[in-house]
Amino acid sequence: MATPIGNLADISERAVQILSQVDLIACEDTRHTQKLLQHLGLRKPMISVHDHNESERIEQVRQHLSEGRSIALVSDAGTPLISDPGYVLVSALRSDGFTVTPVPGPSALITALSAAGLPTDRFLYEGFLPHKAGGRRERLEAVVNETATLVFYESRHRILDTLSIMAEVLGTDRPACVARELTKTFESFYTGTLPQLLSQLSEDDNHQKGEFVVMVSGNPEPVRAGSLDTERLLRLLLDELPPKKAAAVLAEMTGTGKKEWYQQALILQGKA
Ligand code: SAM
Repeated sequence: MATPIGNLADISERAVQILSQVDLIACEDTRHTQKLLQHLGLRKPMISVHDHNESERIEQVRQHLSEGRSIALVSDAGTPLISDPGYVLVSALRSDGFTVTPVPGPSALITALSAAGLPTDRFLYEGFLPHKAGGRRERLEAVVNETATLVFYESRHRILDTLSIMAEVLGTDRPACVARELTKTFESFYTGTLPQLLSQLSEDDNHQKGEFVVMVSGNPEPVRAGSLDTERLLRLLLDELPPKKAAAVLAEMTGTGKKEWYQQALILQGKA
């Protein structure tokens, strides 16, 4: 079930009712959930279900359910399974035939999109980008031709780096928005192009504090891989460049991975 992403008043009436009725609460961090229960004036037994023990907990949860106990699954904030633990458990319980009932409520990505002013008819949720710069670049290159609005989660440690790498890979013209500290005291929305967002967040250290959702408009002029005769282009590039460079140029033009083009280049040269 979903819990607030900052403002405790955002918990739904149904969520409170269910938390008070269940036998057990499976939560990411018992101390964190304890604070929510205290706020609601509830006391319940809890078990922790987090990224490092989720698989081990399945058997225990299965046992409780088989003995007729009811369990609520919550994460530290927002909706479980959305960049949070729960997928492994829910998937296993569903395969076993147990009933899993959603209790909807806040999620940072929907909250951010609902006030950003970017197109929401289609969006692609990308969650957190990888920590390493190379991995982040690769993931962004994979969505450079996506026409739907892109949505990412980011922490204060990497927000400036991420905006900077996004400007490099996704370009400097797209309308974008950063939502910070949603539903909390310092809730802020920054809008503009990626370089403009970078300068708005860089100009004051306070703008880099808290939790972030980054949204970037989709590509209005995507390059379709099928619209280019990529094999012919690769052959032409290979007449002028070594295979690695040729692959890098083609990857940049098509917004796809370098590795496949490099492999294709070796095949065309009869080296693979
Ligand atoms: N399950 C949560 C949900 O439904 O949104 C997301 C959990 S994820 C581990 C935490 C990330 O969500 C944060 O690093 C941030 O990117 C985003 N987030 C959560 N709460 C937020 C808030 N109040 N304001 C902005 N972003 C938030």
